[in-house]
Amino acid sequence: MIIVLFGKPGAGKGTQAPLLAEALGVKTLATGDVLRAAVREGTARGREAKGYMERGDLVPDEVILAIVKEALEGPDYREGAILDGVVRTVPQAEGLSAALQELSRGVDAVLCFDIDNEEIIRRLAGRTVCEKCQTPYSDAEPGSTCRRPECGGKLARRKDDEPEAIRRRLEVYEAQTAPVFDWYQQHGTRVLRIDAVGGVDEVTRRAREALGR
Ligand code: AMP
Repeated sequence: MIIVLFGKPGAGKGTQAPLLAEALGVKTLATGDVLRAAVREGTARGREAKGYMERGDLVPDEVILAIVKEALEGPDYREGAILDGVVRTVPQAEGLSAALQELSRGVDAVLCFDIDNEEIIRRLAGRTVCEKCQTPYSDAEPGSTCRRPECGGKLARRKDDEPEAIRRRLEVYEAQTAPVFDWYQQHGTRVLRIDAVGGVDEVTRRAREALGR
């Protein structure tokens, strides 16, 4: 089962992805997390992605498709995947579709998180993220410790959660990512919409209800 989580930055995809993955018995593939790890490790891919990410721009499609293909061909995602933060452009939708076809698989559903820009700006301005496991928090100070007992990483603000980068990410979403929604509808993929405003458990419940799982 392959589910694409779709929506603006800050819509809650990163919070819901591991919860849905656990409920469905599959793993999460978050391209933003893969890229941030590559930046931290200073790999060639990380060095290429860093500037785009800090500005709030999209990393080139070839880089993203290489990450996704590598992951989906490997053993971790045989049972399925929750894709968080990919697909973000129409060429990525086309590339993912072609890659999955080669593996005799396909996208089962696109789950769209509906939320308005005011709520996004409020959320991202108050967000911290664990530098180690990437868990996002809405109620924790930078410098405090991740609450996942097995982690213990430090929480920090993301560079791309600064106001200028948030504005840029929302512009990029409208210009490049929003058309992906229509692309999936035109290609007959099941597209589901949920209200993404509410408590974490409430949004998980809506997501599972929409997916029928
Ligand atoms: P995220 O953690 O999903 O908000 O992603 C953080 C940043 O990583 C984005 O603002 C982009 O610069 C980059 N990124 C992550 N996923 C993608 C993608 N599918 N396409 C292009 N850029 C991406």
